[in-house]
Amino acid sequence: MDKNFKEEFRQIIKFEPPLYKQRHQFVKDLVEKYKPKKVADLGCADCSLLWMLKFCSCIEVLAGLDICANVMKEKMHTLSPLPVDYLQPSERSLTVTLHHGSVAHKDPCMLGFDLVTCIELIEHLEESELKKFPEVVFGFMAPSIVVISTPNSEFNCLLPGVMLYRHPDHKFEWSQAEFQSWALETARCYDYSVEFTGVGHPPTGMEKVGFCTQIGVFFRKYPQSAESVQSEKPMEAVYKTVFKAVYPSLKDEKYLQNAVISEVIFTAQIIKHRLMSKHEEYSDDPEKKSKFHLSMDCFSDYLGKLVVEKTMEPFVSGNEVYIPLTTIFSFPKVNRLCGTFEKLCKLIAGKVTLSSDGSAVMFNIEHENEDN
Ligand code: SAH
Repeated sequence: MDKNFKEEFRQIIKFEPPLYKQRHQFVKDLVEKYKPKKVADLGCADCSLLWMLKFCSCIEVLAGLDICANVMKEKMHTLSPLPVDYLQPSERSLTVTLHHGSVAHKDPCMLGFDLVTCIELIEHLEESELKKFPEVVFGFMAPSIVVISTPNSEFNCLLPGVMLYRHPDHKFEWSQAEFQSWALETARCYDYSVEFTGVGHPPTGMEKVGFCTQIGVFFRKYPQSAESVQSEKPMEAVYKTVFKAVYPSLKDEKYLQNAVISEVIFTAQIIKHRLMSKHEEYSDDPEKKSKFHLSMDCFSDYLGKLVVEKTMEPFVSGNEVYIPLTTIFSFPKVNRLCGTFEKLCKLIAGKVTLSSDGSAVMFNIEHENEDN
């Protein structure tokens, strides 16, 4: 390569977005494509990738591992649920855990993952650790997908200020041929296939140097057997758990119950409001007014094409407003939250005022009228 040409690029190479963000985005795109439920990030450092992944709605279990507890602890609070997560619990469940330990050791907490990411990790491993790494990740954890990224040493000549390695803690940096030969051999040994790609494009005219960060995406070739999930495998835990957050979720009965009660009361209030404004239209006809029914046709926007039976129609009787539970159940949000009518009845029992036969939500409008 022409020396002057190289020197010229050293001055101008700047990635936009920054390279670490491109690596994390690469993982996020992969998650969105393959929708893994359980993801482990090895060498998670300051947890920034984990933080980004917690917003991927397919993920139910997120775990991080690093040999340096302090770097993980710096920002681990960003992985805790926020007040809004309690106010509006999500439909999925999510548990985030951080472990302190080495990828050179096996721990049962690392079993059962669908995707394992190792972003800029392997070049930090000592020779002895790198030797054990494939057996731990591909042999023991054996997820369906493994992503490994590492610097491409052929790109270094274009980076300003890089003498030997890009970071003082790097134990090695591989050329494309070196990485690919290690990856292909590892894939062959553990029955995976591997595809090579990268992030950080070389400048025009320098395509031969390849991506700045080289990436191998490994796919397990054999199906997962019950045996390979073996959380029961008798084995000692060697990692130390330093953080665990269980996010509020509607899968948890107590959050579901709160959400259903709020939604039932909210829906009943909307119906009551509509009913009362129609009711007022009959203010000079006491006969009609004392036993007034509201046609559910006026809720067609909410109910879609649902056919509403006559028995579901809310009514006013004297000072009481009755909104049948069947009506409330026919509103999509309540319906989706509860699934079955029986579940709706069970979740609101004793928490919402019902008619004596338990079939309708009941409001007394006497006080409201007095207030008016
Ligand atoms: N994955 C992060 C940063 C990687 S830096 C990112 O994408 O930004 C490498 C990280 O690997 C460091 O935090 C370092 O503490 C960790 N590490 C080094 N050796 C390790 C080992 N044997 N086991 C687990 N983590 C290790």
